[in-house]
Parts: sequence; C-alpha cells; structure tokens
Amino acid sequence: MIVDMRRNRERMVREHLEARGIKDTRVLAAMRAVPRHYFVQEALRAQAYEDHPLPIGYGQTISQPYIVALMSEQLEARPGMSVLEIGTGSGFQAAVLAEMGLQVFSVERIRELHTATQQLLRNLKYYRIRLKLDDGTMGWPEMGPFDRIIVTAGGPSIPEPLVNQLADPGVMLIPVGKNKRMQQLVRIRKQDGDVTLEKLGGVAFVDLVGTHGW
Ligand code: SAH
Repeated sequence: MIVDMRRNRERMVREHLEARGIKDTRVLAAMRAVPRHYFVQEALRAQAYEDHPLPIGYGQTISQPYIVALMSEQLEARPGMSVLEIGTGSGFQAAVLAEMGLQVFSVERIRELHTATQQLLRNLKYYRIRLKLDDGTMGWPEMGPFDRIIVTAGGPSIPEPLVNQLADPGVMLIPVGKNKRMQQLVRIRKQDGDVTLEKLGGVAFVDLVGTHGW
C-alpha cells in the first residue's frame, strides 16, 4: 500500500507536473514529499494522485495536483518567507508550502474542515503550520504583513484587506471572476508602494465566501 502510493506520487510528479512544465525544484520536491493520499477521504485514497480535484466534504474540494504545483511555482517564494493561505480545506496546499520552507499561516471558514485538518497536520508532524477558523477575506492582521498570500477559493473581486496585509515587496495569487464556475488566476505584485496585476490564465475554484467574497 505504502509502496503503491509512493509509486503513484512519483508518476504524478513526472506525468502531471514535470511533463506540463513545472520546473521549480523546491515545488517538485515538496509535491514528492507530501503524502497526498492522507488529505483525501479514505474511500478516495486510490484516486489521490490522479489529475483532478476530489471532494473533501462540505461541498469543498482538494485542488488538482497540477494546480497546487502551478500556484506554488507562480508564488515565486523562497524559504523563510511568510505566506498566508486563504482556504485551508484539506491542508494539502499548506503542507506543500511548508515543505518548500515557508512559514505558513492558513485560514478556513468551515469549522469541521478546520478541526479535521488541524488534527491531520499534527499527525503528519507539520507542527509549524498555523491555522485559524475565520473569514479569510479579512486576512490575519495580527500576523501580517505577509511576503506571500495565496487564495485557494474564487471570489468576485480582490479583497482589500489582503492587499493591505501584503508586504512590500510582496506577491499574491487569487482566482477572480464574476462567473462562479470559472476564474482568472491573478497575480498581484506590491513593489515600492505600487500594486500591479497580471492575469495568469483560467482556473476553476470553489467559492470564496465572506465579507469580501461571495
Ligand atoms: N487549499 C485547499 C483547497 C480547499 S477548497 C486544499 O489544499 O485542500 C477552498 C477552501 O476555501 C474550502 O475549504 C472553503 O471552505 C474555503 N473558504 C471559502 N471561503 C473562505 C473564506 N472567506 N475564508 C476562509 N476559507 C474560505
């Protein structure tokens, strides 16, 4: 079973990530290190390394491996940086960022997911990831500013509190779109007091629900 999962994970990295252009060695190493099958429901473990998102309960999903890797790469992070994630969900993206050497803060709004993920991350010895149950569109002001911010749910617009809590220089990624099923992945850069936006392509995330979301 464990050997099978290792083999599945290795195949995932080769076929879904490297073959599609993910190059960042820290991202690839992190995707090899995190046991993704523990982050999905037990009945779905055999599918954990396939090329699609999977349900994690409460109408939410764990993102497809390629999207997690792509966002981790597009974040342009270096070890030691702080990162705020909005939408902890299964905790998989948070674990990948921790494996990349980042100091991870992650906010989730659904209590059951927050509690289950806290337990899972503890069991897997990701002791340094800090989690909070809250509306992440408000950020985590006491812990900011953050070198990097990654939003893993799609909202109608860019939440202002998050831009305010982004360090200068800083990079933030967020799926944005008026259409709930389809968003543009937007990269926001803060540099010398200027904020610039860049569109990275189409993505499909679950709803970002909150004061500055849906
Ligand atoms: N990064 C996650 C993806 C989970 S799906 C993973 O690796 O598994 C997105 C998550 O965002 C869901 O769990 C959803 O409940 C959460 N979410 C939606 N709106 C939110 C908000 N305003 N604050 C915090 N979490 C939110």
